[in-house]
Amino acid sequence: TPRVGVLALQGDVREHLSVLSSLGAEAVPVRTPVDLASVDGLVLPGGESTVIDKLATTFGLRDPIRSAIADGLPVFGTCAGLILLADRIVDGGPGQRTFGGLDVTVRRNAFGSQLDSFETDLDVTVLGSGLVHAVFIRAPLVEEVGAAATPLARLADGTVVGVEQGNLLGLSFHPEMTGESRFHRRFLERVSARAST
Ligand code: GLN
Repeated sequence: TPRVGVLALQGDVREHLSVLSSLGAEAVPVRTPVDLASVDGLVLPGGESTVIDKLATTFGLRDPIRSAIADGLPVFGTCAGLILLADRIVDGGPGQRTFGGLDVTVRRNAFGSQLDSFETDLDVTVLGSGLVHAVFIRAPLVEEVGAAATPLARLADGTVVGVEQGNLLGLSFHPEMTGESRFHRRFLERVSARAST
């Protein structure tokens, strides 16, 4: 059984733990560098990326997470988690930093006020047939996809809302809130593949 962590500083930690457990993984909250060292994959939840950024520094997790990403740890970020994985952000909070790893530019709070939250169905080719019901909550969008990253999901107008790069996966929306487990399954496949090498 793969042992995977959910960064548990702020955000929708419980939802991710429950999807991961339902898929048979041993899922644990990560709050310290010792917790981090014990997992074979990490989820960065939705929430508020400025808060998670600050708390990660306070808890001594920023550098260990950056090193783990550089070493190829599979990491899956949703919404705020996508922001935290982006190499570049637009409209970040004052002094906001990211862990980085995904060669993308992400715009925070990218949808206008009347679109603060919305839901739509996405056709995500790599998941096969069956639309993804996607919930966006003060969501970021991927403004630029660099050469190293691959778009995974788009809105009908072409806006990129999901990307992959090696063992990293980032989504603008929240599959953990809608019973959509195929992205978590994809993440766990990466975890198993890496753990067995
Ligand atoms: N707006 C939040 C941020 O900037 C992300 C919102 C979310 O995770 N649902 O971090």
